Amino acid sequence: MTETIYDAVVVGGGPAGATAAADLATAGHKVLLLDRAGRIKPCGGAVPPRLLQDFDVPQSLLVARARSARMIAPSNRKVDMPVGEIGYVGMVDRDVFDEWLRERAAQAGAERRTGTFEHIERSESEGPTVCYRRSRGSEIERVRTRLVIGADGARSAVARQNIPKADQMPCVFAYHEIIRSPEETTEAFDGSRCDVFYQGKLSPDFYAWVFPHGGTASIGLGSANKGFPLRETVAKMRGELGLDACETIRKEGAPIPLKPLKRWDNGSDVIVAGDAAGVVAPASGEGIYYAMTGGRHVAQAAQEFLRTANPKALRMARKNFMREHGKVFWVLGIMQYFWYSSDKRRERFVTMCADKDVQQLTWQAYMNKRLVRAKPLAHARIFLKDCAHLLGLRAAA
Ligand SMILES: Cc1cc2nc3c(=O)[nH]c(=O)nc-3n(C[C@H](O)[C@H](O)[C@H](O)COP(=O)(O)OP(=O)(O)OC[C@H]3O[C@@H](n4cnc5c(N)ncnc54)[C@H](O)[C@@H]3O)c2cc1C
Repeated sequence: MTETIYDAVVVGGGPAGATAAADLATAGHKVLLLDRAGRIKPCGGAVPPRLLQDFDVPQSLLVARARSARMIAPSNRKVDMPVGEIGYVGMVDRDVFDEWLRERAAQAGAERRTGTFEHIERSESEGPTVCYRRSRGSEIERVRTRLVIGADGARSAVARQNIPKADQMPCVFAYHEIIRSPEETTEAFDGSRCDVFYQGKLSPDFYAWVFPHGGTASIGLGSANKGFPLRETVAKMRGELGLDACETIRKEGAPIPLKPLKRWDNGSDVIVAGDAAGVVAPASGEGIYYAMTGGRHVAQAAQEFLRTANPKALRMARKNFMREHGKVFWVLGIMQYFWYSSDKRRERFVTMCADKDVQQLTWQAYMNKRLVRAKPLAHARIFLKDCAHLLGLRAAA
């Protein structure tokens, strides 16, 4: 019997890996999608409508649509940002959403296999051999391939073993609890609103949230500060919001990468995508859309690599992704660095969010996934107001 040699083995069946596998299989390539089973990805599950359009995801996967965001300042002052007519913030449950994406990849022709990636073996005459275990303690199994795509999340073993400096990726650690939603709408909970808390006591360097998911809700926070008591703070937050009596369904946490890696490929036969490549928007922590977009760029670069056998083709994935989203990441990075650094600044930041121009541009950027150029005057106004806030010339109301 001849041994199968895959065109690509995709390690990880989250949004990045499932998208890359589906795209490559649709293009006629022989793909193995290897995913570790048994854990629902801890995630707030907020996605923009653009994700549904760009990746042909049905509306039926949304468990809720938020029509506004409430920004809450250190002083407890609240500013509501209605989305208006231009869209909504969609909510997905990751167990259902990720499985749907993996199944779509299988329908497109990708072979699915359950297993945990261990390492890659190489010999001079053959391409990479991916070594994995079906379950803990079971024998190592091997598959041969021309390309390995590492989409195995924020602490990616593929990236750490193959991509320079991947082990130094800076992360925020995020923790959330999935609770049964209160039946009644209250001041502290509304099933059509995302609440975002910019308060140093809840997160010294990121933010805390309550996101509605229909029958359930995600309540959590992130911080890069290793000593910050995440669980205790969520417990306190639930108490203060009157959400402590709601049934707790799951408690879970995971790192969120803060910066795209400088290289996504190893110059020969490995490339990474999604969280494994560090692709999460700073300030917001939004990663699902960017994981899928990154997965798509990686699949395109992989096709060129498979066609030409030229490893330089792999570099196009990062280049094209950063061309599309680099500017937004840069702006959000500065925002996070500046506005999330003290309660005084957070207070001013929430004040700024009351501005109608700021609200409109924020939602347009979120919906369209690019900085909107259509209204230069609004940009100029925001820039001036931003400077005034930065310099403290406009006091927090
Ligand atoms: C608490 C929290 C809240 C968040 N909220 C939001 C939000 O509201 N909206 C948003 O857009 N983003 C959010 N994010 C970020 C988002 O979840 C990630 O950016 C996104 O899931 C990245 O997708 P991915 O496919 O790259 O990785 P993942 O979704 O992490 O998928 C990785 C896959 O690889 C598999 N895997 C891992 N190791 C191995 C291995 N060794 N072998 C085989 N398989 C392996 C895993 O089982 C998993 O299926 C949040 C993150 C956290 C932690």
